Amino acid sequence: MHRTACGQAPTVVLAGGVSRAGLWLGRHLIRKERRSLQTEEKRACRCIMPDEMSRPLIRDRGDGGGCRHLEASMSEPGAPVIGILGTGDFSRSLARRLVTCGYQVVVGSRTPKRAVALFPEEAEVTSQMEAASQADLVFVAVFPEHHTTLVNLKPALAGKTLVDVSNGLRVNKDGPSNAEQLADLFPESSIVKGFNTISAWTLQVGPRDGSKQVLLCSDNHAAKSLVMQVCRRMGFIPVDMGLLSSSLEIENIPLYLFPSWRIPTLCTLSLFIFFYLYNFTRDVLQPYVTAGKSVFYKIPIEIVNVTLPSVALVMLALVYLPGLFAALLQLRWGTKYNRFPDWLDRWLIRRKQFGLCSFFCAVLHAIYSLCLPLRKSFRYKLINTALKQVKNHQEMLWDDEEVWRMELYLSVGIMALGLLSLLAVASLPSVANTVNWREFTFIQSTLGYCALYMATFHTALYGWSRAFNPDQYPFFMPPTFLLVIVPPITVLLGRLALFVPCVAQRLRQIRRGWERSRHIRFTVPDNYCHNGLEDVSNV
Ligand code: NAP
Repeated sequence: MHRTACGQAPTVVLAGGVSRAGLWLGRHLIRKERRSLQTEEKRACRCIMPDEMSRPLIRDRGDGGGCRHLEASMSEPGAPVIGILGTGDFSRSLARRLVTCGYQVVVGSRTPKRAVALFPEEAEVTSQMEAASQADLVFVAVFPEHHTTLVNLKPALAGKTLVDVSNGLRVNKDGPSNAEQLADLFPESSIVKGFNTISAWTLQVGPRDGSKQVLLCSDNHAAKSLVMQVCRRMGFIPVDMGLLSSSLEIENIPLYLFPSWRIPTLCTLSLFIFFYLYNFTRDVLQPYVTAGKSVFYKIPIEIVNVTLPSVALVMLALVYLPGLFAALLQLRWGTKYNRFPDWLDRWLIRRKQFGLCSFFCAVLHAIYSLCLPLRKSFRYKLINTALKQVKNHQEMLWDDEEVWRMELYLSVGIMALGLLSLLAVASLPSVANTVNWREFTFIQSTLGYCALYMATFHTALYGWSRAFNPDQYPFFMPPTFLLVIVPPITVLLGRLALFVPCVAQRLRQIRRGWERSRHIRFTVPDNYCHNGLEDVSNV
């Protein structure tokens, strides 16, 4: 045993073949020696500086830089020594987590002296070369544009597993990925892509407070298994994404901005702008232009509160409309094996987001409606009407029809919101995973259509007889409730048409694999249709 140039890190010269057991024994002896050195050092330090707080943040440890020594007592024998190249945010969080999980960690830095104070006592901070030589598994925690600066480590990293944790700056559709480029730089190492979807924050606090899944891919099965083990021991769930060619997709994942929400959000916003401008023109601009009446106070609440339910109802109809289109296409083609057009495919897979946007607008509408009586304008109107009645010695106002309309309107609206809430809760992955396919379709299809019926009825009750009043058509603009009721009525009628026995029977056959062109004769078993609702709606 002799000391290295830095005068601190000892090396063990092993005689004979360098087997894995021999290597481990060697490392164990090194650590033992280091521990005794560390204890001596600590004792010496205590004599000089009894107060722990007076310890400088960056310690001068001679020529070897700020070498900290591995705390062997924390680690389990046989566990791989884990190296981390880079001393940034990710590296620090990863080192902390690995040390907590009992791994021996060695961090490689260009300037170990500067970085040593940032790492836990148990992690060794040393030069990049030394870290690469000591570790069995190396996390490359430097930005991909600096990967090339690590090429001098190639001999030390040969035969070892390198984990590329890097992310790109923007979505890369064409490749090659950072991991593939790293694999080209280090052809003798096994590259594993992973951990890039986990933030430094999640690593630090552990999987309790963040995503638990770590997506991994590699061309080397053994290397991937090793990283999976480390991953599990850190409390995360490794997800095998296959070969290194998947790394492009894994690298792009943290860069996407709600890809499945783009169309539903755009649709919601466009509908909101359209209906808001429509209502503004009808209810604010028209009285001002024709009678000079200023009702601009309606802009923040009343107009918004008429717009929100309009958007909610149309969006809810848009959840069920693509299912009808799909059914019609299947009936027309006489097969379910033709591919739907792209736009319909995309629409079908975004139905959940459309439904949640509808739910969001419906909730806002409910809150706005509850707040209506709190407005000053409402109170003034109420008092003025009462005063006018007293002044004119009129009888108390009580219109039975209006009372009934309002009672029914509110009740049906509450029911519709309740059903929509149920659908929203059932769409959460944690809830959806606990129900079987039949239960899921019952909630999303049967109860979903009930919600659409209720919401349409709610709107029809709001309109009541007003649709036949010519005063409701200023500037030849029909009332909003008349416009928004068209899509849900179309969907509901289309749905009823699919219940016509001959149509329903044919659709059932098609969805069980019948094809008109092949003339395969078979009958659908009687018990196939469970409740007569979900089998015609599922696509
Ligand atoms: P960072 O704080 O900027 O750290 C990068 C480290 O790279 C530096 O501290 C530096 O350490 C080292 N390095 C090595 N060669 C270098 C060179 N030629 N030029 C500059 N630095 C060099 O970055 P980070 O946030 O830790 O991210 C590191 C990697 O992890 C990136 O690829 C990133 O995409 C990925 N990542 C980060 C997060 C996160 O939450 N931060 C999450 C997922 C993935 P020395 O000076 O000690 O050598």
